[in-house]
Amino acid sequence: MPANTDESNEYNNKNFPLFNKLDSYEHEQIVLCSEPAVGLKAIIAIHDTTLGPALGGVRMWPYKNEHEALRDVLRLSRGMTYKAAISGLNLGGGKAVIIGDSRKDKSEPLFRAFGRYVDSLGGRYITAEDVGMEVQNMEWINMETKYVTGLPQAIGGSGDPSPVTANGIYTGIKACAKKAYGTDSLEGRRVAIQGAGNVSSHLSHSLHQEGAQLILSDIYEDKVNALAEEVGAEVVAPDEIYKQEMDIFSPCALGGVVNDDTIEQLDCDIIAGSANNVLDDENKHGQMLQERNIIYAPDYVINAGGLINVAGELEGYNKDRARNRASDIYSTLFDILTYAEDHDTTTISASNTLAEKRIHDVGEIQKRYTSESSLSGHIGELYQNM
Ligand code: NAD
Repeated sequence: MPANTDESNEYNNKNFPLFNKLDSYEHEQIVLCSEPAVGLKAIIAIHDTTLGPALGGVRMWPYKNEHEALRDVLRLSRGMTYKAAISGLNLGGGKAVIIGDSRKDKSEPLFRAFGRYVDSLGGRYITAEDVGMEVQNMEWINMETKYVTGLPQAIGGSGDPSPVTANGIYTGIKACAKKAYGTDSLEGRRVAIQGAGNVSSHLSHSLHQEGAQLILSDIYEDKVNALAEEVGAEVVAPDEIYKQEMDIFSPCALGGVVNDDTIEQLDCDIIAGSANNVLDDENKHGQMLQERNIIYAPDYVINAGGLINVAGELEGYNKDRARNRASDIYSTLFDILTYAEDHDTTTISASNTLAEKRIHDVGEIQKRYTSESSLSGHIGELYQNM
């Protein structure tokens, strides 16, 4: 629905800044959760449920004020809608933020209070682990609601998503290579990976096995040296990674790393990694990469393995199936790159268009009234009478 901008109308959005925000990001619902007795201040944002329940992690962060928290949760939940849609999942986009310092403000009652709010939404929002959260905290939330994913494997969850995410990144890099070089073999390709954490570690092993030459950086020397030894990689200082001679840059640490400064230093054919919000400015830097003929794998497409992994829990988790589904990132990404090429647009804009199209088209078919229960009941009766 377009924002209400008619100033003659007493209900115009100038007088309703909160609703204005909801409209401008096209959100369905925002839930403010407050439980002063246990110090809970949280916001749940449901962006779009056309495709299914809104699934997205809960982040605990010491936001300076509620505007900052609201902005973050609106932006993140919208991103989840696109990630689910482009990945072919029947899920909508949502996210939650708990305002607090994860090093000192955590408690069982706080997370259980949050869990009760999640439960009150009756499945419209399904939560998962995000920045600042640990498995133990998710278990507390789970004591109050069943609408939780990303639980440990020991209690029927999907556990650490990193191997599946890394599998998606690996297969996504191959799709980009196919586009850039006409072959998806990575043998002999120089790949510079930023970060030596969970995803990077699994990814490095896959690339090493295929015969790629790796360059690694991390802010922790011991961590990067240990991984480099396992996969025969060269190690460079964190701010040296952009200048390396490379074919592929794989940002697997933090966002905003493709910016005005680094874009001048990067001399590569492909940028494809797990970090969220890799482009500092989606439009400007997306455009600059297109002009430089650098293939950019949109972050929310190539790193969807984590979401695909937790989504598997909703139908009974199976690791092989999750890995196979993450492998579909190859064809999804290849199609996006082809669409961008054919329409002379950036890969991120191509991806947004295709995600929006799926939401729109599925929304259209859902307009027709059907009643599953009454239909099956009626069909059941017909069968019985035959
Ligand atoms: P992680 O914390 O295990 O690893 C991140 C690594 O980056 C750490 O080793 C850290 O020291 C390093 N790092 C931080 N700043 C750096 C810098 N300036 N230069 C080089 N290294 C730096 O995290 P992860 O689970 O491996 O995730 C990596 C990225 O992928 C994150 O941005 C995360 O949000 C994103 N992501 C992860 C998943 C998943 O399943 N784990 C899913 C989707 C997206």
